[in-house]
Amino acid sequence: MIISTKKGTPQVELDRIIDSFEKQGLSVTLIRGTDYNVFGLVGDTTKIAEKDVLANPWVENVTRVSAPYKRANRLFHPDDTVIDVNGIKIGGKSPVVVMAGPCSVEGEDHIIKMAKLVKEGGANFLRGGAYKPRTSPYSFQGLGTEGIMDMVKAREVTGLPIVSELMDETHIDEFEEYVDIVQIGARNMQNFQLLKAVGKMTKPILLKRGFANTIEEWIMSAEYIMAGGNEKVILCERGIRSFEKYTRNTLDLSAVPVIKEKTHLPVIVDPSHATGDYKYVESMALAAVAAGADGLEIEVHDNPQCAWSDGAQCLKPDKFAETVAKCRKVAAAIGRDM
Ligand code: PEP
Ligand code: MN
Repeated sequence: MIISTKKGTPQVELDRIIDSFEKQGLSVTLIRGTDYNVFGLVGDTTKIAEKDVLANPWVENVTRVSAPYKRANRLFHPDDTVIDVNGIKIGGKSPVVVMAGPCSVEGEDHIIKMAKLVKEGGANFLRGGAYKPRTSPYSFQGLGTEGIMDMVKAREVTGLPIVSELMDETHIDEFEEYVDIVQIGARNMQNFQLLKAVGKMTKPILLKRGFANTIEEWIMSAEYIMAGGNEKVILCERGIRSFEKYTRNTLDLSAVPVIKEKTHLPVIVDPSHATGDYKYVESMALAAVAAGADGLEIEVHDNPQCAWSDGAQCLKPDKFAETVAKCRKVAAAIGRDM
């Protein structure tokens, strides 16, 4: 971290600044100029917030030269993290995985039917929401525990591990017992209390990017989970809000190579919530695989017009199978299995 002070800052204030950082275990080098002074801080500056340093009226400018995250940082962990879920590996050079299923669980018979269909189409995981984060309180809120138990049944029948969204700390025990990958949705990406709580879980966490969050904020949320002790974090790019109206969100595909460079964590892409329109899902799925994503999360429904949520972005099972088949060709072209 580099700090410059204002013209004419008295020596006593410079001493105070040096002293406060040295007390925090950092080594401070002062470079004296004729008018301005510059400090270089060396050591673990992750605990120091730029805005706190700027609160000192004698400070002119603060520049961070290293990232504020440590556990997620590739610098300190050069090898890719590979997460094993019931024998299926995610990340590194592992085959590209596919998580698929309806937005919401709609009952046991339906989720079993969907699980069989997505498995046939090439899915490795079944997704389905039992607790739904809906914009309107009057929209369907999910089947709750019943929905989780329906997913468990579908796993028994098909063998597909299950992915479901956790919205509330009070359901942690249920998820720890029954769910294979715990999804934290875009709306909760900065629910720090929830992030701390899932940091204590043993299950892998699928952390979706908030629709108004920078990549750095997203990595800092992964850092929260990892700082709690759970290093099994999978990131999921699902589109961010922009001025564009023709798609539900704007898929930030560049996040994939950026995440790969900055972190060692697996990163997957959700082309369904990114586009909000079944017509664009395949193109973005293909592009995501080409960009190096470790997996895809795709919403699939056998009768999208009647889906209990997000029907407009659901692929029908045959289209899903066709999309996966095409993605496999793209994966092969970049030297990856799928
Ligand atoms: C979902 O996966 O159904 C969902 C609500 O996703 P997001 O949090 O990305 O909006
Ligand atoms: Mn959805």
